[in-house]
Amino acid sequence: MTTVLRMTELYAPTLKETPADAAIPSHQLLLRAGFMRKSATGLYSYLPLGWRVIHKIEQIAREEMDGIGAQEIMMPVLQPAELWHESGRWDDYGPELMRLEDRHGVGMCLGPTHEEIIVDLVRNELKSYKQLPLTLYQIQAKFRDERRPRFGLMRSREFIMKDAYSYHTTQESLEETYQKMYDAYGRYCERAGLEYRPVAADSGQIGGKVTVEFHALAESGEAELVSCTCGWAANSEIAPATPAPVSYGASAFEKIATPGVHTIAELAAFLGCSEAATVKAMVGKNAEGTPVALFIPGDYDLNELKAERAFAGFELASDDEIEKWGLPKGSIGPVGLPEGILVGADESLRDIDGWVVGANEEGFHYVGAAPGRDFEVDVWADLCAVKEGNACPQCGAPLSVTRGIEVGQVFQLGTKYSEVLNGNYTDEEGDEHPYFMGCYGIGISRTMAAIVEQCNDEFGIFWPLSVAPAHVCVLPLTVGDDVVQPAAEKVAAELAELGLEVVIDDRDERPGVKFAEADLMGWPLQIVVGKRGLEAGEYELKVRRTNEKRSMSFDEFNEWYALSKREPNTVAVFFEQVGVTR
Ligand code: ATP
Ligand code: MG
Repeated sequence: MTTVLRMTELYAPTLKETPADAAIPSHQLLLRAGFMRKSATGLYSYLPLGWRVIHKIEQIAREEMDGIGAQEIMMPVLQPAELWHESGRWDDYGPELMRLEDRHGVGMCLGPTHEEIIVDLVRNELKSYKQLPLTLYQIQAKFRDERRPRFGLMRSREFIMKDAYSYHTTQESLEETYQKMYDAYGRYCERAGLEYRPVAADSGQIGGKVTVEFHALAESGEAELVSCTCGWAANSEIAPATPAPVSYGASAFEKIATPGVHTIAELAAFLGCSEAATVKAMVGKNAEGTPVALFIPGDYDLNELKAERAFAGFELASDDEIEKWGLPKGSIGPVGLPEGILVGADESLRDIDGWVVGANEEGFHYVGAAPGRDFEVDVWADLCAVKEGNACPQCGAPLSVTRGIEVGQVFQLGTKYSEVLNGNYTDEEGDEHPYFMGCYGIGISRTMAAIVEQCNDEFGIFWPLSVAPAHVCVLPLTVGDDVVQPAAEKVAAELAELGLEVVIDDRDERPGVKFAEADLMGWPLQIVVGKRGLEAGEYELKVRRTNEKRSMSFDEFNEWYALSKREPNTVAVFFEQVGVTR
């Protein structure tokens, strides 16, 4: 790009106030800095700066896919229900699938993912082992009617995804491509400037057995990740918790008065025991709406996804529902529950000889309650959220827990889709077999949010060079004069000539306003041009990532300029000299 973006022309309306419904930095800052606007719940429009970033992220994904021999295609967003009936997912996918009808009453949906349509696309023509392996991909809007769209681009109802699909004759061939994808995903995260971690994961809706998620590490991430120094890492959804509940040591099964006790902490203090000697109740309902009471060691939290695996469709109940089912919040227990309530308990409580648990009566608890004798448990399962220090399933060392944002996931699907959809090839002997398949997704728009989660401070965003909407912002302290603005225009033009993407803040605004907005928008480098500096023969530089400022003499600038110009990788060389490395 050799043109210079002008702030006087750029459509990037900024907001002074943080929008009330934006809870995390990326959501707040992308709105405040004028990168995007909300069109409706979970639906966003990208403004010019946001769209420039999206393009750069897409381009990184595209280069990585092309680099491993994947071929780009484009499939329709709108898909016939018929194909989804064929795969069985019309029923299985649930309310997240956006369903509609065309004018003839034919069922359609907006693609949340494209396994069905891509098998259909090739099944009549990809027929010979000689044509395999093959990997196709696209970059396109996806639609999911999320239960809780939130956090801006992080969990939206329409989002941009790079989705790739591979076809193979053998599991070995699939594994080879899977490994290439895995490596490409790592490079994608690195090039996008993300601190990331690949973790073992659950395959969820998509299916298949072997799958890894790539997470950007961030406090605001919706996922909890556990990892060990031995290299084992997983999404906490699939990481086994290892609680160590202790026995309270009651001599008998007995109901005791616990006036005013409602929480585990109060119960432990009242009895003078540790929280690990108590049992916590959590109440929810399954997919059919049947109430479910879950019991876990008092010092642990419930992992809702594990609960969902034990009781399909599990969702925590509201206070009103709990009351409606006749359960006294704060004293709920497995003994004498009202009819029709399912009971689940954490595996670790199986061998605890006497539970300290609610008596289903306000102000009373039981001690010494034993499963199998005093009450029955319908489902024993691993229900607890893993805690820092739990044992690594691979080596037994203590695990650490962090949070992450899932930016991508790779799956070995095997023959799951090709079998049901008749995606077959013919081998050398003329026999037909279903393709082995892999699928691989990257959340392009979510990546933009994840980058901002990692790259922000109290002043705004600091974009990594690789995805910044422009590399450098030139800030003339005054405009309309015949010294400062012309000098700034000259620097801007020269940098653009070098191949840098340049924006010039040519607005007639106070310097304070320009500085604040440049910080908010996050250009990696600012070059300030002022009268005094010009007289002294220098510009002022500010590296946005570190907020370090320093002056640069005209000589220095000319030297860097000349040096960068001689190098093939001009932009990188220029920034290396300025001290901006990522
Ligand atoms: P999640 O568990 O966060 O709902 P998922 O596992 O259902 O995501 P995939 O089917 O693996 O998502 O889709 C591939 C990628 O698309 C994800 O890794 C994520 O980056 C992105 N993605 C999925 N759902 C959304 C969404 N609602 N908004 C933005 N990006 C999304
Ligand atoms: Mg996923």
